[in-house]
Amino acid sequence: MKIAIYPGSFDPVTSGHLNIIRRAANIFDRLIVCVMVNAGKNPMFTLEERVELIRRVTGDIPNVEVDCSNELLAEYAKRRGGCVVVKGLRAGSDFENEFQMALINHKINPDLDTMFLTAESQYMYLSSSTVKELGSYGVDLSDFLPAEIIPDFQKKIGKKPI
Ligand code: ADP
Repeated sequence: MKIAIYPGSFDPVTSGHLNIIRRAANIFDRLIVCVMVNAGKNPMFTLEERVELIRRVTGDIPNVEVDCSNELLAEYAKRRGGCVVVKGLRAGSDFENEFQMALINHKINPDLDTMFLTAESQYMYLSSSTVKELGSYGVDLSDFLPAEIIPDFQKKIGKKPI
């Protein structure tokens, strides 16, 4: 059984993330989406909220599991039996950092490879931080967030759509 891990902050999960999740779930037997604790970031949603939002939007995909961890990714993957880390690649700016992380993870855990899925063109410039910025101006987010989580996002940010 090929298990892949899709790690990230998912603050909150966007339509771009969901697109990667669906495509990776079609490729691997099991996909574990893991919300990673990142001490350097000050998240809008708590860890538990982020996990719950991802569970809600992936409920129809049977081979997807949602988890969270504060471990090193290479160690988490080993513990969970994952052989591949899935990453989404947007514009070139993602590449440098992701390439470095892939090499480091492979060094720490030589059984672990990283595979990149290119972002779909309509999500190429979409990130959780862009969504938060647009949301703070009350922009309609239906092209950026899964419909089921828009009310949660608006409640958190305290804005009604324009
Ligand atoms: P961000 O805060 O930048 O949205 P995350 O840490 O939550 O990023 O992202 C987790 C993973 O999802 C990363 O591999 C990132 O490159 C990828 N990703 C984020 N947004 C998109 C998108 N719009 N399309 C494809 N992949 C994406």
